[in-house]
Amino acid sequence: MIVHPIYAGFGLSFLLELPHGLYLVDAGSPGWDGRVLAAMRRLGRTDLKLIWITHAHYDHYGSAAALRALTGAKIACHPADAASLEKGLSPLGTTRGRGKIYPFVQPLANRIRTLRPTPPDFTLEDGQTLERFGLDAAVLHTPGHTPGHTCLLLSDGTAFAADLLGGSPPHLQNLLATDWDQLPASLAYLQAARPARAFTGHTARPFPGPVLQSIQA
Ligand SMILES: [Zn+2]
Repeated sequence: MIVHPIYAGFGLSFLLELPHGLYLVDAGSPGWDGRVLAAMRRLGRTDLKLIWITHAHYDHYGSAAALRALTGAKIACHPADAASLEKGLSPLGTTRGRGKIYPFVQPLANRIRTLRPTPPDFTLEDGQTLERFGLDAAVLHTPGHTPGHTCLLLSDGTAFAADLLGGSPPHLQNLLATDWDQLPASLAYLQAARPARAFTGHTARPFPGPVLQSIQA
């Protein structure tokens, strides 16, 4: 499997290249679907099968509806964030530090490029896998940043930690949360899965498993 990180507005989209299909982890901000399509063209592929949305934020599912319309890929997420996707919402919860600018920035961005209602085709709970779509990956429910935030753990040991973590070197989410008290347990849950490497939602380079284990709540 080859992971192609794609900058798509405020967020990153990860295109997973497998012999039998392409998969996307997150879909960037609204209006950035062209970046993903360009990456697919470079690979000479049209078989995008699935878009896994780690959580219901503007910069993570913004281009998902457009990509579904253009490629026929299915969209999926955890049920606790499904209603936000359906309504085109991006719940920020409460903010800390630099995160305090988001309640001002997000409405402005949304006025320029509006987040579309994006009803998922299906939802998966903690521990369920994407095997029936040809992707050997398990869903880890890691709430706190949003109620339905998930990490995706692939069988090769790669984890997509999304916005459970931030920064480089990575640290536990410290800008936005709908429930700050859930974050330490979510971090411990990801650490217990012992991924070999992990990507955060906003950094194109993965970091090794031992770095993940060293992150303190
Ligand atoms: Zn987020």
